[in-house]
Amino acid sequence: MPNIAFVSGKWSAISAAKVSVEDRGFQFGDGIYELIRTYGDRVFHLHEHLSRLEASAKEIEITLPYSAAQLEKIIRLGCRKSGYTDTKIYIQVTRGTAPRLHSFPKKVTPTVVMTFRAFEPLPVKLREEGVAIISTPDIRWARCNVKSLNLLPNVMAREQALRSGAFEAVFIRDGKVTEGAGSNLFAVIGKKIITPPAGPYILCGITREVVLQLAKKNGLEIMEKDLKLPQLYSAQELFLTGTTVEVLPVIRLNGRAIGAGRPGEKTAFLYRVFQQQQMT
Ligand code: PMP
Repeated sequence: MPNIAFVSGKWSAISAAKVSVEDRGFQFGDGIYELIRTYGDRVFHLHEHLSRLEASAKEIEITLPYSAAQLEKIIRLGCRKSGYTDTKIYIQVTRGTAPRLHSFPKKVTPTVVMTFRAFEPLPVKLREEGVAIISTPDIRWARCNVKSLNLLPNVMAREQALRSGAFEAVFIRDGKVTEGAGSNLFAVIGKKIITPPAGPYILCGITREVVLQLAKKNGLEIMEKDLKLPQLYSAQELFLTGTTVEVLPVIRLNGRAIGAGRPGEKTAFLYRVFQQQQMT
C-alpha cells in the first residue's frame, strides 16, 4: 500500500482517506502542518520537526491529541507501511470538526492527518544550473513563525514566480527580505553568509538551522541579519534552503544575474557538506 494516509487513527490509501466538510481545516484553514522527508530509514531531524509542530499548535491554542512519542511511532509505522526508500511525510493538525462558527468549538478533538508518499528529488539539472527567483511584496500575516495552513499568499506568490519562468518567489516586507514562499533565503556578501533573522516574519526552517550549524562548524562566517533587496542584487551568491530544495543555488533575481550568473562555490560547498551529513 504505497501512498497511504493516517486520519485520526485510521489507515487507508490516500485516495480513500476522508475528513468531514465541517473540518475547520477545510472551513477556516484553522490548523498547522509539517512536511518531513526521510533519507532512507532516517527521518530528517524528526525531533526538531515535532517540536516545531508542537510550537505551532501552542501558538494557535490547539492541544495535540498525541504526544511526540506517539507521533513518532505513527510516523515510523507509516514509513514502514508505505515502503519507499525516501519518504515524503505530510502532517496536518486541525482544530477539529464542528458546525461553522468562527469562535473555537467546545469539546472538539483535533483532526490529525498524515500522508506518506515517495520523496521525489529535484531534477539534477536545477541543482547544476541554479534557479531563477523573483521578489514580491510580503502580504502575509505577522505570525509567519507559525506553520499555519493559511498559505494563500504563498500559493499566489509561487504561481507568480512560475508564470514568470522562475522557481521561487521571495517576500519583501517593509523593504526587508523575509523568506521564500516555501523556503529560506541566504546571501553571500563579501566573506559573510547572511540570512534574515528568526522572528515573527519568517518560518524558521529546519534546513536553515542545519545550514547555519554546518557553516559554523566548517569555519564559515555566517550570521542572521536583515537583508534588503539591493544587497541581494549585488551578492556574489544566493541560495535557498528547505526540506525539498535542500541547499539550492539561485542565479537570477528578477531577471538580473547574481554574481557570475552561475552557482557559487560557497553554495556548492554547503550542499556537499549537507549531503555528507545525511549519508553518515
Ligand atoms: N519558509 C516557508 C514559508 C516554508 O514553507 C518552508 C518549507 N516548509 C521553509 C521556510 C523551509 O522550512 P524547512 O527547512 O523546515 O523545510
